[in-house]
Amino acid sequence: MTDSHKKVVRQARQKQIRVRIAPSPTGFLHLGTARSALFNWLFAKNQGGIFILRVEDTDLERSDPKYEKDIVENLQWLGLDWDEGPYRQSERLDIYEKYIKKLLQENKAYYCFCAKEELEEEKEAMLSQGLSPKYSGKCRHNKNPDLSRPSVIRFKMPETEVIFHDLIRGKVKFNTGLIGDIVIAKELRAPLYNLAVVIDDFEMKISHVIRGEDHISNTPKQIMLQNALGFEEPVYAHLPLILSPDRSKLSKRYLETSIDDYRREGYLPEALINFLALMGWHPEEDREVLSMEELVNEFSLKRIQKGGAVFNLEKLDWLNGQYIMKLKPEELARRLENFIPRKWLEDRGFLVKIVEIEKERIKKLTDFSSLVGFFFELPDYPAKLLIWDKTPKEDILGNLRSIFSLARDFAEAENKIMALAESRGRGETLWPFRTALSGQIASTGPFEIMKVLGKEETLKRLEIAISKLMSN
Ligand code: GLU
Repeated sequence: MTDSHKKVVRQARQKQIRVRIAPSPTGFLHLGTARSALFNWLFAKNQGGIFILRVEDTDLERSDPKYEKDIVENLQWLGLDWDEGPYRQSERLDIYEKYIKKLLQENKAYYCFCAKEELEEEKEAMLSQGLSPKYSGKCRHNKNPDLSRPSVIRFKMPETEVIFHDLIRGKVKFNTGLIGDIVIAKELRAPLYNLAVVIDDFEMKISHVIRGEDHISNTPKQIMLQNALGFEEPVYAHLPLILSPDRSKLSKRYLETSIDDYRREGYLPEALINFLALMGWHPEEDREVLSMEELVNEFSLKRIQKGGAVFNLEKLDWLNGQYIMKLKPEELARRLENFIPRKWLEDRGFLVKIVEIEKERIKKLTDFSSLVGFFFELPDYPAKLLIWDKTPKEDILGNLRSIFSLARDFAEAENKIMALAESRGRGETLWPFRTALSGQIASTGPFEIMKVLGKEETLKRLEIAISKLMSN
């Protein structure tokens, strides 16, 4: 590319922000990739840019379509829709082949025939001399490669200092002399990660590469490849590592918990999005709960921190509770569909009433069914559960009988039972009432339950309580 051509390309690109998430389908979608996807997506939306999904499936041994399916489905579930793609690297081999041939022809890459054992020995020898290991360059000058022998293709890494300006980390310097001639392809139609990324980022006109800091050591290699191929460098932004609350490295357990696991545990996508956004970024006006719309409006790469981003599960639970509380009961009932027994869906109106009174008590969708099972079926509970403190059984029984007769006039029941409670003692009255209705040691209050259950069922449960105490 000539300088003037480069300038034209640069100008054309300045017009359009194009970013990508480039997951390798070698595992389920996890937190780190989901956060990178979100930051790219937010940046694109904020800037009126294009967000691209590219599946990096060149590692045939480790890639699996089931992982791709999981990644695609869960990005969609999070609401991170893409404007282009999914592109698959495995479907782009012609493109890579063209560039690999070019590098070979221009003598910027070469075939390497060194056997694994040989490379191992070389590495050991360098380590024992206190040097950082790199390929010796032995095959660099082989003028007549015998292609019938097993080989790989290496890039002639120029020895220089690479400097790039990272939007988050500032000026980053690397000495490529420490890297050596990296393998860029196993063969013409089998490129490795660094090469395929460089070619795709160019071909897809990616303007900004926003990815995890774990890739920062790949960046100088990619820049050298871009130089060799005459590609313009994209803008880089490396996102901070995700740390555990004590700022140590986040344990694998959390890193490997997939987004699908969170989904099945009953987290809402909007809560996860909010949570992920705050892992390394925060809004100008400090607050914790931000809708997707607010995130899009307020997102800026400038506000991403350099230091590690703390992962805090309690915060996620709290955020999830906040979002659950905000949902309309009908909508929450819909979200609960996969988390409750089928037969609870038969009477939608009843379910919605329960959701309405219980929604402040649940942090996750999975909390719901164990909390409200008693509405659908009164559990068998021991008579002694009805006894408040050391109140004699006869007094409790008397109170339940009075409640029973007051409950017959259902419209007035709450006021009258409250008056009864004031005269006979709240604990002695409301405790057995609540227990009779729920069969639980803890639950929502008796009047709320009573209204959801209705008159008939309330009276029936009071009767059960009375006979339990009588036969005890
Ligand atoms: N396939 C790489 C990964 O999953 C993407 C790296 C990049 O964004 O350049 O980590």
